[in-house]
Amino acid sequence: MCRPIGAGIMIQSSGQRVLQRIGMLDELAATSQRLEGMTAELPNGRTLVKLDFPRLHPEAYALGVHRGRLFQLLLSRCHRAGVTLYNGFRATEFDSIRGELKSSQGETRGRFDLLVVADGSRSELRKSLGFAAKVTEYSHGALWTTGPCDFKANWLYQRVDGTQRLVGLLPIGPRECSYFWGLPVADWPTILQSDFERWRSRAIEFCPPSASILNPLRSFADLTFGSYRSVALRVPFRENVVFIGDASHATSPHLGQGANLALEDAEALASLLFGSTSIGNALQMFYHQRARKIRFYRQLTAILSPFFQSHSVWRGCIRDATLPLMPRLPLVGRQMLYTLSGLKEGWFDWS
Ligand SMILES: Cc1cc2nc3c(=O)[nH]c(=O)nc-3n(C[C@H](O)[C@H](O)[C@H](O)COP(=O)(O)OP(=O)(O)OC[C@H]3O[C@@H](n4cnc5c(N)ncnc54)[C@H](O)[C@@H]3O)c2cc1C
Repeated sequence: MCRPIGAGIMIQSSGQRVLQRIGMLDELAATSQRLEGMTAELPNGRTLVKLDFPRLHPEAYALGVHRGRLFQLLLSRCHRAGVTLYNGFRATEFDSIRGELKSSQGETRGRFDLLVVADGSRSELRKSLGFAAKVTEYSHGALWTTGPCDFKANWLYQRVDGTQRLVGLLPIGPRECSYFWGLPVADWPTILQSDFERWRSRAIEFCPPSASILNPLRSFADLTFGSYRSVALRVPFRENVVFIGDASHATSPHLGQGANLALEDAEALASLLFGSTSIGNALQMFYHQRARKIRFYRQLTAILSPFFQSHSVWRGCIRDATLPLMPRLPLVGRQMLYTLSGLKEGWFDWS
């Protein structure tokens, strides 16, 4: 069923450019929170890292967005464009010769000239179509919720303690935030059995601005647990099938780029299909146009994630000693901002 769900996400300059070009940015911005940057603090109150988008460009910003709102806008755009939607159709197989899509209930739809697979990091079609992918499950995930919150800021605010604790508040509208509490996946069953009130007191003590979002919660059932995985499809297309978004290149959300990359994928694919003489050419060009940027964000996320959530003590120590200095180094600080804004095209270039 098509319905808006999910946590808060940051739509960066890269994603904003896509939304601007399809005329949706103002509408989304009207129900989201404009963010000037992000900050992370250590338990002693020292700033671990602070990045201000206006240092890159006076007009640069990110949008704190409820994922459901972005979804709702895209869905109503599809309705207006006359796209036929099959609700409740869980696609599990594709007959690429007949161009027919099959569901888990044995229904079929088609015939389709091209299958664009965008069924997320757990993609069933990736498996059934036999695409070679490297899928790595992260040992860490997060509990998260969205709701009314007194925390008034135009920042993504995070508190970190070593590599064991990563907690954050992302404003996604006036008096509304997305809250996340990072934890090892293996600890979740034990936490679920533990005393909710005690957990909440500890959580508020660790991150006091989260009190107003956590206080109305009654139990762990009011929070959602999500684990992360990275996905690397060796070649994301074949004849009349192409993968985009998380189904092709999911990463952990530490760099906050997944939705932005998915929006860019969709736009690039659409414009190449319109401008090409054949589907085959369009898919080749799509792959070459997107591969370097996707590889960069995948590699960087894989390097950085364990410095924020892992079982490694030394990584936390190195991070605490070096990260506060990095944004102050002129060249490095700018590169960090380009990276966070989704504007890097590879290790050595940006747009
Ligand atoms: C806690 C968290 C925070 C994040 N923060 C950010 C952020 O700040 N910025 C950012 O850019 N990204 C962020 N991300 C990542 C971002 O959410 C994803 O990268 C993005 O949603 C990927 O979009 P997608 O359309 O490819 O996949 P998804 O959003 O996963 O959508 C896949 C869709 O396919 C449907 N589906 C699945 N299987 C089938 C099937 N068999 N048949 C039919 N339909 C199917 C699903 O119901 C779903 O609607 C975050 C992720 C998490 C978990």
